[in-house]
Amino acid sequence: MKRRSLLLISFASLLAISCSGSQEEGKNTFVSVGTGGVTGVYYPAGGAICRLVNQNRKDHGIRCSVESTGGSVYNTNSIAGGELDIGIAQADVADKAWKGQEPFKEKMPDLRSLFALHPESVSLVVRRESAITTLRGMRGKRINLGNPGSGNARTSEELLKACDIALSDLAQVGRLKAAEMPDALRDDKLDGYFYVVGHPTANIKDIATTTPVDLVPVTGNCVDQLIAERPYFVKTEIPAGIYQGIDSPVPTYGVRATLVTSTDLPEKTAYQIVKSVFGNLDEFKTLHPALNNLNPKSMLSGLSAPIHPGALRYYKEMGWL
Ligand code: GLU
Repeated sequence: MKRRSLLLISFASLLAISCSGSQEEGKNTFVSVGTGGVTGVYYPAGGAICRLVNQNRKDHGIRCSVESTGGSVYNTNSIAGGELDIGIAQADVADKAWKGQEPFKEKMPDLRSLFALHPESVSLVVRRESAITTLRGMRGKRINLGNPGSGNARTSEELLKACDIALSDLAQVGRLKAAEMPDALRDDKLDGYFYVVGHPTANIKDIATTTPVDLVPVTGNCVDQLIAERPYFVKTEIPAGIYQGIDSPVPTYGVRATLVTSTDLPEKTAYQIVKSVFGNLDEFKTLHPALNNLNPKSMLSGLSAPIHPGALRYYKEMGWL
């Protein structure tokens, strides 16, 4: 009898260990990071985070893995649903999740921030022969706004609305994923696509080397108004000379990419993740050119959800907050 219950107990504890996933602190903690399409910046940025975390695994036992996903909205929803531990999300998308605004059905009070990443710009890539040179020039054209889980679609739809361009004004509203957009543009299945992304990105490098493209300025009163109303938007410029054929800077606006999680992430795990990144910030910045200009000050500002307590502990220890 005694032996049987002992066996039962050890079976139950084995089960507990194998099912605990990221809830388990210390040894063998698995952390999944949701990113975006493989040709964007989220995917390599998530890879850089995991690389630094995994580098110190013997100290903390965290095994970090990166997933290519549909983007910001997908990541935020999946964190709320418990399918992802961490994800990258545009600050505007995280703000909407926190407040329960469209496309989110309800508030996400458990959403937490770890830190901000690179700035992203609303980028409108068009075939040069489409002759689109302004936002209004999109009327009657085939424009990809983005797949439903992307921040891309969210932000570009909001922009169109603010600028009085109805979806029905477009000849076609594209819903392709980020990785599919360049091929569709090259094959003349689209006149243009929006991508809310850090620069440089492989996605635009790829299309710019094979097809004559332009980046359209995303400017005007409607854009100024959006920026004035939303604290997370700022004017930006896509620098000249990073994409073939784009020889002058392109004015637009943008938002920061942020690393978000939920209150379910154990305090210790959050602490170790931010310590791995900030403790190796110089290395982190070299892992993708869009990360080059990061510094602790910019990485702790512009966050839409409260900072996770584990991350906060590290920032306080460093005297940054
Ligand atoms: N900001 C984009 C989105 O949330 C993703 C950009 C990227 O993958 O670098 O849809």
